[in-house]
Amino acid sequence: MGETIFSKIIRKEIPAEIVFENEMVLAFKDIHPQAPVHILIIPKTIEIETTRDIDSSKHSDHLTAMFEAANKIAEDFGVSETGFRLVLNCGADAGQEVYHLHMHLLGGRKMNWPPG
Ligand code: 5GP
Repeated sequence: MGETIFSKIIRKEIPAEIVFENEMVLAFKDIHPQAPVHILIIPKTIEIETTRDIDSSKHSDHLTAMFEAANKIAEDFGVSETGFRLVLNCGADAGQEVYHLHMHLLGGRKMNWPPG
């Protein structure tokens, strides 16, 4: 359980364009960006595969850190004021490809709603 391409990025075994890191989370540019700004924010624990695994007794600090990182990154990339979208895909119908919890931060263009 838990070993994914993102585990390798956390351990720096494969390269990624890292834009933020602290003891809880890592954030890096998505390899296939869907917007001018497309950053993935991940907890540095492999035990959270999807949002369905979230457990307040274990993960609250990581989840808060992910949102705080998102706010900082949005500022750093100049989309905090113009707006940005945070997306967490959960499971097959949502299109989740990597089973290590991750938040997409998308910005720098006008977003459509509903999403495709
Ligand atoms: P999901 O569809 O699971 O919500 O999103 C997974 C995301 O990870 C996709 O947007 C995909 O482009 C990105 N991704 C997959 N493999 C890699 C990789 O090796 N490096 C980086 N930077 N992004 C990746």
